Amino acid sequence: MKIAVFPGDGIGPEVTAEAVRVLEALRLPGLTLFEGDVGATAYRRHGHPLPEETLIMAREADAVLFGAVGDPACDHLERALRPEQAVLGLRAELGLFANLRPATMFAGLEEHSALRPEVARQIDLLIVRELNGDVYFGAKGQRVTESGEREGWDNMSYSESEVRRIAHTAFRAAQGRGKKLTSVDKANVLETSQLWRDVVIEVAADYPEVSLDHLYVDNAAMQLVRAPGQFDVIVTGNLFGDILSDQASMCVGSIGLLPSASLGERQTAHGTFGLYEPIHGSAPDIAGQGKANPLAAILSAAMMLRHSFGLEEAAAKVEAAVGATVRDGVLGADLGGTASTKEIADAVLARL
Ligand code: NAD
Repeated sequence: MKIAVFPGDGIGPEVTAEAVRVLEALRLPGLTLFEGDVGATAYRRHGHPLPEETLIMAREADAVLFGAVGDPACDHLERALRPEQAVLGLRAELGLFANLRPATMFAGLEEHSALRPEVARQIDLLIVRELNGDVYFGAKGQRVTESGEREGWDNMSYSESEVRRIAHTAFRAAQGRGKKLTSVDKANVLETSQLWRDVVIEVAADYPEVSLDHLYVDNAAMQLVRAPGQFDVIVTGNLFGDILSDQASMCVGSIGLLPSASLGERQTAHGTFGLYEPIHGSAPDIAGQGKANPLAAILSAAMMLRHSFGLEEAAAKVEAAVGATVRDGVLGADLGGTASTKEIADAVLARL
């Protein structure tokens, strides 16, 4: 189990160090960790946010544990040299097309949700977002029309194979959870969505034990805040997934609680190669102060155990220890508490 650890910038190294402590405490046989530079840190040391040696390290690993990148001091750099290019470059170079973002309400944190506590309590869902296609990657531009008006345009498209592979990922995820999949599209007006829906229905034939339904994205956004308990796994395209996953994250409280996995097609000995990272950024406003919540990074490590190493039991143990830490009121400043980054991780380790 070779893990490439890329701590990055700002609070990235602070929270990643705690996730590594948790992984090491599990004493998993065959676990090897090696560290590489990404982001502004890499730019300062090597002149590029994603140096060649970091990329090689990622390719040789079974999984990548990623912190966060971003540094306001780099805002003047040309786009290709900005720290954020590291994560975009890794996604593209490693063919990571499936973004998994679980959102689960932790008992004891209902008051921190943007929703009413009795609604927030229902949240236990997973959003599977396609990451390599859609309107984000289509041809785009600006032009001047015949009447002399400026016009912006972006081409939205999905190929059959792109939809098929993300649908398989989502159905497999649903098989391992509540066996219910909701596909979100806009098939009433978009041809891209009509193809999406047709292909998802075809793939469903391979997973008879998973129940499938379809929602238009506008209705899905509404249902997500009205009755989130109806969702188990949601699969959707890049654009709709971008918006819905941020919406879901705010429903569970702090951004410091939410992990993510980006998976590709490459299989490892016991699972799928992936990149695991908290959904938050480098938080320069609190960096170096011991205030960062490390739970999103620790939960990202748990996702790695599950998806890349097939260690469901170890993953569940880490998640239970995080749940108990929160339930016992060991909270950082992001959730109205006083515990430091290290104290929160110590509490998780004690409960492990
Ligand atoms: P951010 O997620 O870094 O921070 C948003 C707010 O949430 C801040 O107030 C921050 O203090 C707080 N916060 C974030 N993580 C926290 C944690 N673990 N514990 C407690 N509080 C936390 O987003 P931003 O401020 O918009 O961006 C900062 C930098 O991060 C930018 O350079 C941005 O481009 C980058 N960024 C990187 C990634 C990534 O590496 N994948 C993702 C998002 C943003």
